[in-house]
Amino acid sequence: MRRGGSKIRILIGIAIVAFAFIKKCNNKSLNPYTDRVQNINMSADQEIAIGIQSAPDMAKQYGGLYPDQKLQNYIDLVGNKLINASIAKQTPYKYDFHLLADNTTVNAFALPGGQIFITYALFSRLQNEDQVAGVLGHEIGHVLGRHSAERIAEHDFWKTIATGASVGADAGNLVNSIGQNVLLKNGRGDELESDNLGIRFMIRAGYDPYQMIEVMQILKAAAGPNRVPEFQSSHPDPDNRIQKIKEAIQEYQGVS
Ligand SMILES: [Zn+2]
Repeated sequence: MRRGGSKIRILIGIAIVAFAFIKKCNNKSLNPYTDRVQNINMSADQEIAIGIQSAPDMAKQYGGLYPDQKLQNYIDLVGNKLINASIAKQTPYKYDFHLLADNTTVNAFALPGGQIFITYALFSRLQNEDQVAGVLGHEIGHVLGRHSAERIAEHDFWKTIATGASVGADAGNLVNSIGQNVLLKNGRGDELESDNLGIRFMIRAGYDPYQMIEVMQILKAAAGPNRVPEFQSSHPDPDNRIQKIKEAIQEYQGVS
């Protein structure tokens, strides 16, 4: 009886794993802005909704919005300049830029659908408009690249696999650890793709793309032992990242 039971469990486990793979194949979609095939299981409208819904809580975690409308207007101006000059304008995303009051955490990040944030701590370290454009352009890149949606789909996939594996062979933990490695690997790719898109937006909007390299140096200098700025959170080698930025500048300046 026991042997028969475990055989059935294995079959059910295999079925769940197969289901996860079939679902993953069906979720494949070509991102028209990056020309990259991605696994995504939500619509742009859903991404926008998630972003708008989470934005107030996000802002609260960084001390709320910075209480100076003039600086906020400046952030909007730079952000909109980047959007209006680039393919970002052709997307369904609703961009919204927020200057956060936090003056100790050096950070910038994007929620799916277009909600973009920069802390005052990072903003105050930037030396010119081109560098502000570099940070915001990179974040717009995360939105266009649909990185959050991709992570969510990846997470769902590995969760289903883990369920199948734990039903079949109680190896859920093993599969879970593989899943985390995959998430981390995607993170590195996300940063490089966002850098590349950010450079593209900067050049289109008439900003000096070399200022993005200065931004990298500022972030490197700002990263204390306990601080992990978004730009360095997934740790692509900084020098490798600067090299890739230089390559992107060559690529897009040649085109325009
Ligand atoms: Zn990033």
